Amino acid sequence: MDFTVHKYKSLLLSMKNAGYEFQTYNDFIIQPKNKVIILRHDVDLNPENSLCFAEIQAELGIKGVYYFRAVKVSWDDTIIKKISSLGHEIGYHYENITTTNGNLNLAIKDFTKNLELLRKLAPVSTICMHGSPLSKYDNKDLWKTNDYKLLGIIAEPYFDTDFDKVFYLTDTGRTWNSEKFSVRDKVNSSFTQKFTETNEIITAFNQNKLPNQIMFTFHPQRWNNHFIKWFIELFNQNVKNLVKRLLISIRK
Ligand SMILES: [Zn+2]
Repeated sequence: MDFTVHKYKSLLLSMKNAGYEFQTYNDFIIQPKNKVIILRHDVDLNPENSLCFAEIQAELGIKGVYYFRAVKVSWDDTIIKKISSLGHEIGYHYENITTTNGNLNLAIKDFTKNLELLRKLAPVSTICMHGSPLSKYDNKDLWKTNDYKLLGIIAEPYFDTDFDKVFYLTDTGRTWNSEKFSVRDKVNSSFTQKFTETNEIITAFNQNKLPNQIMFTFHPQRWNNHFIKWFIELFNQNVKNLVKRLLISIRK
């Protein structure tokens, strides 16, 4: 079975074993490392799944970036603060043209307001558009008449990453690099490697056949339900072990 927590951990370990370092998108923009992976997460919904990803990464000493939408199904103050406290970057997954039904004046106001609110929870220096396949709008169009750099935003992956140098992989549609599933989550790239299953990527890492700089986009809500169940299981197990250890130490 693919897209399970087991597969996910194997994938992270294969990256580490292949000698890659991990940077948040902010850090990559400021000073990119030579052999590096950016773990990007678009938190479209079910933020608790993203918290699982964040915790597993933290256990392995890995950092990533998490982009939250300003809608109830994504935005959760407690989870945002928790993920930030684990050392990950928080960013804004904006969709203001869709939200304001194409009114660009309202859209930039909406963007600014949400950015301010998010910055009350964590530092925010990068953003990433949410590309709803159901929306007729392209939210990136906000930047035809506005400049996010004036709002203290240093980068937006779609504008500030050279995808001829940074290999891009996305889990859209529970497969990898499947263009038929993504309407707008597409980049122009000269790389030609294609993967369907996570195992193929792990093998490529094991054989050191992947480019030096890679951006992975994960949609944690799309990962198997077993993922979250497994994590709760692990968490309960840890709590049980902790209680056992405490009991033992008290008895001593
Ligand atoms: Zn999205």
